Amino acid sequence: MNAPNKSGWKPEMTAADDGMHSGPQTVTGNRALMLEEPLIFELAGTDTTGVDLPEIEGGPNRLGGMERTAPIGLPGLSEPETVRHYTRLSRQNYAIDLGLFPLGSCTMKHNPRLNEKIARMPGFADVHPLQPVSTVRGALEVINELAFWLIDLTGMHGVAMSPKAGAHGELCGILCIRAALEARGDPREVILVPESAHGTNPATAAFAGYRVENIPANADGRVDLEALKARLGPDVAAVMITNPNTCGLFERDMKAISDAVHAAGGFVYCDGANFNAIVGKIRPGDLGVDAMHINLHKTFSTPHGGGGPGSGPVVLSEALSPYGPLPFTARTADGVVHLVEEENAAEFDHTQAFGRMTAFHGQMGMFTRALAYILSHGADGLRQVAEDAVLNANYILRSVEDLLEAPFGKSGPCMHEALFSDAGFSEGLSTLDLAKSLVDEGYHPMTMYFPLVVHGAMLVEPTETESKAGLDQFIAALRSVAERARAGDVSMKQAPYYAPRRRLDETLAARKPVLAWSDPDSA
Ligand SMILES: *Cc1c(COP(=O)(O)O)cnc(C)c1O
Repeated sequence: MNAPNKSGWKPEMTAADDGMHSGPQTVTGNRALMLEEPLIFELAGTDTTGVDLPEIEGGPNRLGGMERTAPIGLPGLSEPETVRHYTRLSRQNYAIDLGLFPLGSCTMKHNPRLNEKIARMPGFADVHPLQPVSTVRGALEVINELAFWLIDLTGMHGVAMSPKAGAHGELCGILCIRAALEARGDPREVILVPESAHGTNPATAAFAGYRVENIPANADGRVDLEALKARLGPDVAAVMITNPNTCGLFERDMKAISDAVHAAGGFVYCDGANFNAIVGKIRPGDLGVDAMHINLHKTFSTPHGGGGPGSGPVVLSEALSPYGPLPFTARTADGVVHLVEEENAAEFDHTQAFGRMTAFHGQMGMFTRALAYILSHGADGLRQVAEDAVLNANYILRSVEDLLEAPFGKSGPCMHEALFSDAGFSEGLSTLDLAKSLVDEGYHPMTMYFPLVVHGAMLVEPTETESKAGLDQFIAALRSVAERARAGDVSMKQAPYYAPRRRLDETLAARKPVLAWSDPDSA
């Protein structure tokens, strides 16, 4: 299958050829089940075709002068060749179904297969957003039931279900805040965001037309309450606080922060992406939060990664609920769940909606999965999720902190993720080198260089779905690469050795992606 091809593609030499793995050089470049795979354009010529259709003879030409005049330039592969190409590529992915995925802030937890079974039920999977409401009562029930749970778990007043990701939810929450301020004739200009915030927070505030200012952190990694209070004033529309924050710490002053912001006439936005650590333990509504997005795809286990899908419902306080977007579901006294849209908003006393976030109701597949997850865990099970997530993160923190510096390790236990810095690495070795060496150990690296407040940050989030044995194996790998980084093992600078491709320039790839293939022969 992998015979040399049109463009003379040859497998890249890997460490196995450097004598690190003894064995014969294979003709194909494959190593048993580790298969080399070229790009599809390298595999097949653009002058062949995978289908076998007879030439059209006679008959009228119905293309109206729109015939292609140049070749289409797509590779021609047969069906089995195509299937094999993509299956081979898929085997080079790392996935939560393959192993521990310690990507901090992303909550890469196991996705129970029960969720998938429920989401695939035809009554949920096959509904169309334009179907008459009378034919999708069950789907509306699911959205409404999930909304009820989210409100109950957060102690809030209302929820906008339609946002399709955390960042989309942030925008929805901030637009609610803007609508509320405009309704009282008090448009304000500034949103305060801590330095440790996820990049989406300042991006959201700026996108919604606000000027972003930083809130400083104190020495133990939390919001500096006094500095925040000193900055509050009539120009501050809102503060955006992540709790637990991206240093893996609970913001203990949250209630005092909310009280101060409210006293100054502002609103409190909480980034709830880290809700996994507190679900069933704390209700953000009790802490004075006005709006908070929940990443269903993190806390409630729906699969994510590779850009989607996501779902970011936003829970809203009583003050903000009147401005929540359309459409939404509402149950009337007769027990029927209705869809509230522009035409019946007045009937449901919801005439101040700021608008819409999406054409339809949100991510149905995410809703069914999240509700299946919530109902199968129950209130006690969800509380245990938070407790076990925190326990696992602290187990890692305390198991490696003698080798990896934990900048806030002294200020007590962490929440659901453990944060380390590169202090103590030998001169010349970096967080990137450690992460690449972890790839050789068969792990997806942790989140790197975020949050920005810690030098060479490594943010490790094991989640609650890892067993102690699994954590111990990961800890052994992490300790080994940390020891090598401290000892100055410069071979780490060439890692990974065992990945299908060696050290790639990810920054260049992200900044200047090459999305179209060009034929080297014609260059
Ligand atoms: C994941 C995350 C977001 C953004 O959520 P998306 O669903 O990726 O848009 C925002 N803030 C924090 C802290 C996060 O971890």
